[in-house]
Amino acid sequence: MRDYDVIVAGAGPAGSMAALALARAGVQVGIFERARFPRDKVCGDVLGPMARASLGAMGLLGSVEALAHRCEGVQVVAPGGRVVPVGVAHLTLRRSVLDALLLEAAIRAGAGFEEGVEVDAPLWSGSGVARGVRCATARGVRFEARATVTILATGASSKALRKSGACLRTTPSAVAQRSIWSLPGIDPGRVVVSFEHEGGRALGWIAPLGEGAANVGCGVFLEGGVVGVELRGLFERLRGSSGAFGGALSGGRQETRFEGAPLRCGLSGARAALPGLLVAGEALGVSRPLTGEGIGEAMESGRMAAMAAIGALNTGQVEGLDAYERLLERERLAEHLGSYARAQRWMGRGWAAVPLGWWAVRGGWPLSRVEAAVGLGESKEGPGGLPGDA
Ligand SMILES: Cc1cc2nc3c(=O)[nH]c(=O)nc-3n(C[C@H](O)[C@H](O)[C@H](O)COP(=O)(O)OP(=O)(O)OC[C@H]3O[C@@H](n4cnc5c(N)ncnc54)[C@H](O)[C@@H]3O)c2cc1C
Repeated sequence: MRDYDVIVAGAGPAGSMAALALARAGVQVGIFERARFPRDKVCGDVLGPMARASLGAMGLLGSVEALAHRCEGVQVVAPGGRVVPVGVAHLTLRRSVLDALLLEAAIRAGAGFEEGVEVDAPLWSGSGVARGVRCATARGVRFEARATVTILATGASSKALRKSGACLRTTPSAVAQRSIWSLPGIDPGRVVVSFEHEGGRALGWIAPLGEGAANVGCGVFLEGGVVGVELRGLFERLRGSSGAFGGALSGGRQETRFEGAPLRCGLSGARAALPGLLVAGEALGVSRPLTGEGIGEAMESGRMAAMAAIGALNTGQVEGLDAYERLLERERLAEHLGSYARAQRWMGRGWAAVPLGWWAVRGGWPLSRVEAAVGLGESKEGPGGLPGDA
C-alpha cells in the first residue's frame, strides 16, 4: 500500500501539469502511468497560443521552445479551396519529447512516478468518497494506493473513466489519424489546416516538424457517436485536391503508417468532480471542436485540478470539490470550447465565414459577440452544445 496526498492517473500533459503544480506546492503527489516513458501519443504535435501560455505560466516555455520547431503562421483552407492566411505563430514538437519534458519537470519538483501501472478504479470509502485507486502492473500484480484526492487524467480512453462513475459518454467526439512524412519541398514556416470537406466536420493538417519532416493527418467529428466518414477515404480526397493541401504533399514520402486515436471534445462526456475525485484533460473532454487541439486545455485543466486539490487539502473539504468546477467556469474553458463549436457550425456557411471564425477563436473573442456583430444571430445551443454529444 502506498500513501499520497494526491494520486494522478495518467502522465499526459494534464496529469504531468497537475503533478508539477502540486509538487511545487509541497504536496505529496504520485503519478501512475500505464505506459512506459518516453511514450508516443497519436497527435498532430501542434502547440497553439493556449499551450504556449500554459507552458509559460509554469516556466517551461523556454525549454520547450529550445526543442520545438516554430511556424509563423497557418494556411487555413476553407470549404471550396480558398486559402486564408492567418499570422498566428505555433510550435510543433513530437509528443514523445513534449510529454517526457513535462513529466521530468514534475519528477524534478518532487512528484513520485510509477510507470507500467494501470489505474483500474477508485477506492471508495463507506460514505462514497474516493480514497485512492486500485491498480495493476503490466505483470498483473494488483495493489491499492491511498490518497486524499485522486485526479483522473487518463486521456480519451474511457476505460478508467467508466469505472470511476464520472463518465457520461463512452463514445468519442471525433476520431483522427496521423503519420510522419518527408516533405522537403514544403514551406517550413506554415501549418496547413484544411476544412475543404464535410463543412467543418472534418479536417486535414500538415504540420512541419523541421528538417523536412511533417506530421500529416486528418480527423472527423462524429454525429451522435457515429462515424459517417471513413478516415482513409477522407485523406485520399484531401490529398487529391489540387489546392494547398494536395500541392504540399505532392513529391513527398510517407515515412510511418497512419495511426488513429479517439478524441473527447467540448467539455462534455464526463463529470468534472465527484467526492475525492477530479477529472482533468481529455478525460474531461477538453479538446476543441473544429480543430481537435487539446494540449493547452489539458495542461490548463490539470493546473486547475491541482489548485482545487490544494484547496481541499488545506480545508479538509474533499467531499465538495466544486471549487474545480468554479475554476473551470471562471477561466471560461466552456465558453472557449463553445466558440470552437460555433466556428465549426460556421464552416458550413462558406468561405467568407472562415477567416472571421478562425481569427475570433484564435484571438479568444467570444464568438457569440462576433455572431451578433455580423448578424449571423445567436445559436440556440449554448456553449458546450457540441457535435458528437450523446
Ligand atoms: C490524431 C490526433 C491529433 C491531435 N493533434 C493535436 C494537436 O496538434 N494539438 C493539440 O493541442 N492537440 C491535439 N490532439 C489532442 C491531444 O492529443 C489531447 O488533447 C491531449 O493529448 C490530451 O492530454 P491528456 O493529458 O488529457 O491525455 P493524454 O495525452 O492522452 O495522456 C493520458 C495518459 O494517461 C495514460 N493512461 C490512460 N489510461 C490509464 C490508466 N487507466 N492508468 C494509468 N495511466 C493511464 C496514457 O497512457 C497517457 O499517457 C490530437 C489528438 C489526436 C487523436
